[in-house]
Amino acid sequence: MVFAEHKDGKLRKIAFENVSLAKKLGIDFECAVIGNDVDAEELGKYGAEKVVHYKSDKLGNYSPDGYAKLLADAMDKQGADVLLLGATSMGKDLAPRVASRLNAAMATDCTQVELDGNNLKIVRPMYAGKVQATINLSSAKKVVTIRPNVYAADENGTSATVESVASDVDFKTVVKEIVAGAQGKLDVTEADIVVSGGRGLKGPENWHLIEDLASALGAANGASRAAVDAGWRPHDEQVGQTGKTVAPSLYVAVGISGAIQHLAGMSSSKYIVAINKDPEAPIFKVADYGIVADLFDVVPRMIEEIKAKQ
Ligand SMILES: Cc1cc2nc3c(=O)[nH]c(=O)nc-3n(C[C@H](O)[C@H](O)[C@H](O)COP(=O)(O)OP(=O)(O)OC[C@H]3O[C@@H](n4cnc5c(N)ncnc54)[C@H](O)[C@@H]3O)c2cc1C
Repeated sequence: MVFAEHKDGKLRKIAFENVSLAKKLGIDFECAVIGNDVDAEELGKYGAEKVVHYKSDKLGNYSPDGYAKLLADAMDKQGADVLLLGATSMGKDLAPRVASRLNAAMATDCTQVELDGNNLKIVRPMYAGKVQATINLSSAKKVVTIRPNVYAADENGTSATVESVASDVDFKTVVKEIVAGAQGKLDVTEADIVVSGGRGLKGPENWHLIEDLASALGAANGASRAAVDAGWRPHDEQVGQTGKTVAPSLYVAVGISGAIQHLAGMSSSKYIVAINKDPEAPIFKVADYGIVADLFDVVPRMIEEIKAKQ
């Protein structure tokens, strides 16, 4: 079963990625959508054939225990063995609740899932990315969260049959209101390109360089913890062990040294470009392309070049 998460009535990219993954694995699956005003049919484009859309006026934006009960009951009812969720804020909250109800083993923030006979072979980074563990869940039921952006959302399906079910699940907690941060801001975990800045920027007054480079590339803004702790950037931009984990196609690290805690959040990016004036900076060990230069020289030139080519 694939749990299809949505936000503000729109299915999230991770929902499509997990549907594509289930389809790629070649297993029988169905999707579960919870919430009223969501276009559940859209999952068909990515290969979902059956979607069960649980509707309830009471569950609101999210109910940790309500969603968990609903999903665990749905797993039992459908005889599903595996639940796939995104390793998102909601997925991280929900997965252990469902796993405990089902007495299921759980693997979180996975970057690779393959079929190994009748079982799943799962790879997940551990110890801040220093180890890639291959694990096997031996319980009958399994709950697996997948790191966003690792699997592509392939539009290779057609249409899904959507069954609407009125949900009358009991719950104790409901999220009544979500107060959004900056409107229209691209989230680092969902963006295909991320441009992040660090202490090398020297201060918030220079952050326009990161914003302009990000805007020229159509990227989201990220930051190191040093930049966040200094109050230059909001915490929702922090990439790393105590921030967000990202896996974009392109990650541009500007004035970031590459401490292990930062690498934990971005080393699974497909291409990494680092700009740092110190040739010994550890970020160059994980970078595919490195520019050893003063960022105040090179970033304005990059912005100009990119804009000239557009
Ligand atoms: C428990 C724990 C959790 C942590 N979690 C996180 C986390 O989630 N995310 C995170 O990022 N960090 C985290 N950290 C902090 C981490 O250890 C580093 O301190 C932090 O990542 C450093 O940020 P930085 O690279 O921006 O700064 P610095 O390490 O100070 O690096 C600045 C870099 O900018 C370069 N530079 C300076 N001037 C220029 C210039 N003009 N042009 C080009 N380059 C320049 C320098 O050569 C240097 O390499 C954590 C630490 C701990 C202990």
